[in-house]
Amino acid sequence: MKIGCPCGASIIDQTDKLPYKAHLIPDQAWLATFDAIDEQIIDPLAGGKLTKEAAYHQARLIIGHSARSIWQCRACGRLHIDGLDGQLQCFVPAGPQANREVLSARPS
Ligand SMILES: [Zn+2]
Repeated sequence: MKIGCPCGASIIDQTDKLPYKAHLIPDQAWLATFDAIDEQIIDPLAGGKLTKEAAYHQARLIIGHSARSIWQCRACGRLHIDGLDGQLQCFVPAGPQANREVLSARPS
């Protein structure tokens, strides 16, 4: 996937673990996602009704269903978010000094 940013830069999404991409779970879906993991994975797994491999698969489905993607342009800092309608929504940072790594993972 390639996103053309209004600044002229391109955001390339062709691999995993990108430092400028994240997955957004709306707060309205946050607790429901935990509940689904509990009910559809942990409880059946603990009860011997789900295999470990099926649990891995189900967890990815649940989280993937809840989340939408967000990318940050490293050139200008704009955020591009998958909207509910499937269209990208673009947000411009408040100033030129905006952090370009807001979607990076915390150092471990
Ligand atoms: Zn840009």
